[in-house]
Amino acid sequence: MKKIGIMGGTFDPVHLGHITLAEAAYTEAGLDEVIMIPARIQPFKQDRKTASGEDRFRMLALLAGMDDKITVSRYELDNDGVSYTYLTLREMQRRNQEAKLFFICGADSFLKIDTWMNADELLHDYSYIIGSRPGYLDTELADHMKMIHSRYGTESILINNEKLDISSTEIRRRLAGGMPVNELIPPPVERYIREHELYR
Ligand code: ATP
Ligand code: MG
Repeated sequence: MKKIGIMGGTFDPVHLGHITLAEAAYTEAGLDEVIMIPARIQPFKQDRKTASGEDRFRMLALLAGMDDKITVSRYELDNDGVSYTYLTLREMQRRNQEAKLFFICGADSFLKIDTWMNADELLHDYSYIIGSRPGYLDTELADHMKMIHSRYGTESILINNEKLDISSTEIRRRLAGGMPVNELIPPPVERYIREHELYR
């Protein structure tokens, strides 16, 4: 059975933490493909201004061009309103009926996933690949995985991704302050940001 990883996020901008997570996910869980899907409007960030969807998409496309297993989808950008993961996963499953879908997320997202819209469907119908993130204990994640499993029967895998202390928030902060970001994002993405004068 084909295995597809779906990674949602704001990707404002995409960084090495996202890339390392995606690569560890396809390597360790044997995925055929990872689809990154930038949110048009993230439910928990509705009051925050982001770079345009187009810019966030193009930065992801630069990354997808460097990795055969990674693709980017415009699905959430092309749909009106708030982007809900359960609707996106429904559509991805409709497009890939024979595939097993894994939602890939970092520790911070997984610890809150049972508060997301339509959590019953989300956790009942799909499997999860979880990456650690600095500031979160593996024991805390393992406990949450157990709770989610007993409540929803969810299959989840904790992968051994390198813990990178990188966030888009920190990158935006550094760019606004004129500080270097070259160790946090791939060179083509940094070039794109500078050419389009983003996050200044
Ligand atoms: P922001 O600071 O704007 O929230 P972010 O760096 O957290 O940005 P998001 O777009 O919010 O990035 O995250 C998308 C997904 O990637 C989430 O599931 C998040 O947990 C995961 N992720 C982000 N950064 C890392 C990282 N350094 N290590 C592991 N997972 C990460
Ligand atoms: Mg985040």
